[in-house]
Amino acid sequence: MGKKSANRKTADEAIRFLDAHMLDPTPANYTFAYLYLTGVSGSMRKAVEGIIDGGFRLSQVEVDELMGTVSEKPGSSSEDADEAKALVRHQLLSVADITNMTLRDTSAFGRELTAGVEQVEAGADLVAVVRVMIERTAAVEQKLEETSKETERLRLDLDAARDDASRDSLTNLPNRRAVDRKMGALLEENGQLAVAFCDIDHFKAINDRFGHAVGDRVLKIVAQTLSETLKPHMVARFGGEEFVVLLPGIDGKEAFTLIEEARRAVGNRNFRVRETDDLIGQVTFSAGIATTRRDPDEALREADMFLYEAKNGGRNRTIYKAAA
Ligand code: GH3
Ligand code: MG
Ligand code: MG
Repeated sequence: MGKKSANRKTADEAIRFLDAHMLDPTPANYTFAYLYLTGVSGSMRKAVEGIIDGGFRLSQVEVDELMGTVSEKPGSSSEDADEAKALVRHQLLSVADITNMTLRDTSAFGRELTAGVEQVEAGADLVAVVRVMIERTAAVEQKLEETSKETERLRLDLDAARDDASRDSLTNLPNRRAVDRKMGALLEENGQLAVAFCDIDHFKAINDRFGHAVGDRVLKIVAQTLSETLKPHMVARFGGEEFVVLLPGIDGKEAFTLIEEARRAVGNRNFRVRETDDLIGQVTFSAGIATTRRDPDEALREADMFLYEAKNGGRNRTIYKAAA
């Protein structure tokens, strides 16, 4: 006969201990006896000894009660235990609430959380229940993150699609559609709107001399210069080499000053062909300005008329005429 292992010895002792106290050798009771005999849980050992001291028999109720607190730290009072349970319970319930609010397909998880709450109330091992809940929560968090990422992606797609329709792809400026859509609202918000129509001078000649690719780049630079100098006002590419600026809440004279600044900013740049360093030279534009308190379309037509006058007058100039 070989020597009995330490575990086997403890098992025998545990069975004897249960027999002595007329307790069923159920897994839970066996575990209890094992824990008591090995002294793993100091607080439980003390509690058991307090009961059996003087020859008292342990009742099943007492064993169940002790098993409910077995996972708590030695020396922790039952009040602490109640508080800890309440805390965990509240945390589990609020996680369940949040989850149910956020996800539709988490009823299974919700049930698990509720079950977890019940287990804790029934005195199950807090550490084990919480560990399971943390694992499940991590899985749900990941799912939530995926869901919100997907939502964000869809939102961006939608924004992009919406933006595509109102933005010019070459210059990335708002387009004519955006101008049509925005003018009325800006006038309504500000009670007054100045509109400037700007058209690059002899742009066709740039294309003819250097090619369309260079022409495109010139358009981009002019677009950028206009929006930078006229910030925060909306500069749009109305078509071809024509730009419209919407200056809400500004009178014609102020608008004239701003457009003149922008005209000088564009005119002061020296354009060169990137590949060959050939000098394109000065790029200028002509502009017409009109203001309105009633009809933005009419202001746009009027600004276009003044632009035509500026072209006829020799180009590279801005025309604004205050209403008589
Ligand atoms: P003006 O001073 O009278 O305005 O002369 P202009 O040459 O600027 O005017 P015109 O209307 O005769 O020519 C405009 C040119 O702009 C013709 C067209 O090929 C060119 N254009 C329009 N859109 C684009 C574009 O997206 N890229 C390039 N490279 N050229 C464009
Ligand atoms: Mg034109
Ligand atoms: Mg032109």
